[in-house]
Amino acid sequence: MSEVSKILIVGGGIGGLCAAIALRREGFSVDLVELKSEWTVYGVGIIQQSNVVREMARLGVLQRYLDAAYAFEDVGIYNLQGIPLARIPGQRLAGPAYPANVGISRLALHDVLSSSAIELGTQVRLGLSIESFEQDPDGVDVRFTDGSTGRYDLMVGADGVYSKVRGMLFGDKYQPRHTGQSVWRYNFPRHPSIDHLASYTGAEGNAGLVPLADNLMYMFSTSHEPGNPWLDPSQFAELMRDRIKKIGGLIGELREQITDSSQVVYKPMEVVFVDESWFKGRVLLIGDAAHATTPHLGQGAGMAIEDALVLSLELLGDDPIESKLQRFMQRRFERCKYISERSILAGEREMAKDHSFDRVGLTKEMLSRTAEPV
Ligand SMILES: Cc1cc2nc3c(=O)[nH]c(=O)nc-3n(C[C@H](O)[C@H](O)[C@H](O)COP(=O)(O)OP(=O)(O)OC[C@H]3O[C@@H](n4cnc5c(N)ncnc54)[C@H](O)[C@@H]3O)c2cc1C
Repeated sequence: MSEVSKILIVGGGIGGLCAAIALRREGFSVDLVELKSEWTVYGVGIIQQSNVVREMARLGVLQRYLDAAYAFEDVGIYNLQGIPLARIPGQRLAGPAYPANVGISRLALHDVLSSSAIELGTQVRLGLSIESFEQDPDGVDVRFTDGSTGRYDLMVGADGVYSKVRGMLFGDKYQPRHTGQSVWRYNFPRHPSIDHLASYTGAEGNAGLVPLADNLMYMFSTSHEPGNPWLDPSQFAELMRDRIKKIGGLIGELREQITDSSQVVYKPMEVVFVDESWFKGRVLLIGDAAHATTPHLGQGAGMAIEDALVLSLELLGDDPIESKLQRFMQRRFERCKYISERSILAGEREMAKDHSFDRVGLTKEMLSRTAEPV
């Protein structure tokens, strides 16, 4: 097999965009196709922990990213009445001059990543997917949904939990599964006390407040929704208020301000893990396409970003592509499997109302595991 120079990325979400940035920085030619013709993301936020801040530095976008984000140090754990239980200090993995953790609106993150990828020379086509592909030992021939074609040295499926590329590689062997829980999110003006991630946890629920900017924060809450029922979007505000009715502290104080159903972002938790090699020949899955998990540890995007960076490094050199992708798998599989399984476990213990579950211990263990070099 010859070495790699021309790469197609399918999917312009967090993982696909970070892969484009990392691969362009290493000099690869990158085409990216994104299904959405309007390249937007929904308007709540995302928690990015110290390992992500470190990888943003390695991607070369750290300052731009921090300018668009709210930097914070600690994670505060509270009981459901808002009484502080623990404070987990942040780790400044990007260096002493940079913050430990970040909250950022998904829109702001998308702007930083998409403009960086395009400025670095990624060729982006929107409103497009792949129709089919055929591969031989030297390359992948791709037919796009608009009838155009291309030949690539590598195709990266970064097309999320419902990945079409995954289906093309593995058939219906790996299907997303609803875990039994859903997430509710709503934006508020930032409360002065929310200068850190405030996580409210207990057997009767799980919620939190995340700073996103000087004037913005969001609330998240998980709920048990057995069978993944259809819920009427026009009732979302009332339903979210109902789901957090047993939670006090600042969450309780803010509850009655959840009034606009169109601003509630409701998402059933769906997971999938490809429990074997994520590549076949010259086609590889990264991010949620390979390992979508629940948000309990706030590391799904973190793992997609790490995948992107490791891929760009492992593709360097003259050895056969199979060796490169095998090394990628060695560096990624167990780490992503750990995050995937532990996140799902946290949700299962929540649903079981397990008072003995050591959530703080799990968070500390995860932070120490993800602080290890990728
Ligand atoms: C409720 C919730 C909260 C979360 N909170 C956090 C958090 O705080 N911190 C964290 O690190 N992670 C969090 N995550 C996880 C995180 O959002 C995902 O892990 C991350 O978005 C994965 O990135 P991705 O690029 O792999 O997939 P996606 O972000 O899903 O991107 C996939 C992209 O591919 C495109 N696409 C899909 N199909 C095709 C196709 N056939 N052809 C072309 N393009 C296609 C999509 O339009 C999309 O742009 C959360 C997830 C959920 C559900």
